[in-house]
Amino acid sequence: LLSVLGLALLTLAVSLSRDPSVAAAHVVALLVITCPCALGMATPLAMAVAAGRAARAGIFIKSDGVVQQLTEVNCVVLDKTGTLTEGTMTLVAATGDEAAIDLAAVLEKNSNHPIAAALQQARAPRLRRLGQADLPVEAFTAVHGSGICGRIAGHDVAVGRPGWIESLGGTPPAPLATALAGFSASGYTPVGVSVDGRFVAALAFGDRLRDSSVAFVRHLEASGKEVHILSGDHPDVVRTVAGQLGLPPEQAHGSVSPEEKHAFVERLRSEGKIIAMVGDGVNDAAALQAAHVGIAVHGGSTASKVAADVFMTRPGLEPL
Ligand code: ADP
Ligand code: MG
Repeated sequence: LLSVLGLALLTLAVSLSRDPSVAAAHVVALLVITCPCALGMATPLAMAVAAGRAARAGIFIKSDGVVQQLTEVNCVVLDKTGTLTEGTMTLVAATGDEAAIDLAAVLEKNSNHPIAAALQQARAPRLRRLGQADLPVEAFTAVHGSGICGRIAGHDVAVGRPGWIESLGGTPPAPLATALAGFSASGYTPVGVSVDGRFVAALAFGDRLRDSSVAFVRHLEASGKEVHILSGDHPDVVRTVAGQLGLPPEQAHGSVSPEEKHAFVERLRSEGKIIAMVGDGVNDAAALQAAHVGIAVHGGSTASKVAADVFMTRPGLEPL
């Protein structure tokens, strides 16, 4: 062993004096030829140690290649709801047809979106009092990144992104349109409710930024990475969150469908960027898969964990 190391040192000295740019390559070539086993074992060992340390820090790495790619990432795309924000929403305002809001709350029993939990929690006592808590829902459909719809007590009920509710046929009456514009301007997620195609109620949901988000985004920017926020939420709400994180409005993209999230990552890839995407939802799965490194946060959907290369086993962005 000592003679091999001696030879390597000699090679280093000679190469440095002749052509320093090839010195490292010559030394490594000599070591590989004389003792391949040591180097052959060193790489997987380093990978295993890295994966073990990451696991202890709350980061589960599914494949070794990811570690290499993570060192090359120069662009990070972040989902908003449930990723940068806690994803535990609360209903902060509700206006319009009360009976329709009740039906919307019944419909949300079939969804696991943060909005669903918030609306059910807010309306549960009222629904129990009215004996409507267990109304059956037929033909339930979830349109990821837009909302949900189904049939309850003979009515077609839909809850979701105001633009999507409108696309189902109903433009909101003036007071509801004004309310919705006010909600998004104040940074609240606006949600519409329609019954039998008529836009009948407007809701506002609040969500807190995760404590770790500001430090995380600052760290990414300080290390020279380009950061974007992609969200299905209203553009005003996404810009508000970007402002809280110190990002310029042109890096905040709202009203983005799951297909558009995927296309956005593909476009950045075609510009030659090495992309990490961080998300939690079913609506992020395609984009997580398209990125060089897909990272699913703790508490996210199963689809996001399956699509990602890395997933978090602890809440928040701190481990990352
Ligand atoms: P992102 O995670 O990209 O920020 P979301 O998963 O919150 O976006 O979905 C985008 C929008 O779709 C939400 O802001 C909301 O308006 C609507 N939406 C999605 N699912 C539901 C649901 N179950 N109930 C009501 N609205 C929903
Ligand atoms: Mg999300």
